Amino acid sequence: MDILDEAEQHCARAGARLTPLRKRVLEVLVEADAPVKAYDLMARLDDSAANAKPPTVYRALDFLMQTGLVHKVEALNAFVACPSAGHGAAAILYVCEKCGRITEVHGTRPGQDKRPAGFVVKRSVVEHYGLCAGCAA
Ligand SMILES: [Zn+2]
Ligand SMILES: [Zn+2]
Repeated sequence: MDILDEAEQHCARAGARLTPLRKRVLEVLVEADAPVKAYDLMARLDDSAANAKPPTVYRALDFLMQTGLVHKVEALNAFVACPSAGHGAAAILYVCEKCGRITEVHGTRPGQDKRPAGFVVKRSVVEHYGLCAGCAA
C-alpha cells in the first residue's frame, strides 16, 4: 500500500477527510526527497490545484501536521512527509546540513520526560543537525 492510501485510511480512522488539495500537498512532499519550503510547495502545486491560494495551502499543511502526516522542520522552515502516518510518537529528525536530506526515526511517547504537571503533549518534533553517513564519509 502506498503512503497516500495509508494517509487516506489514517484520516478516515481519525474522522477527518483528506481533501484533494490536502492529498496533493502531501503528494508533493512525498515526491520531494528533501524538505520543501511553503513557497516551493505552492510553485509545485500550480499545475494542478486551481484553488491553491496561500491561506488554503497553509490550512492544508496545518491539517497534515495535526494528523501527523507531515512534520515541520522548524529550523529550515520547511515541511517533510512522515514516512509512517500518525505514529503517535515523537518524531526525531536527523537533518544533514550538507545535502539537506532528512532521516526520521521515532521516539517513544511524545515529550513525556520533563513535561510540566498537567501539560498535555499533542505532538513533538526533535531536530538534530549534522552530516549524514554519505556526507560524513
Ligand atoms: Zn513522523
Ligand atoms: Zn548529507
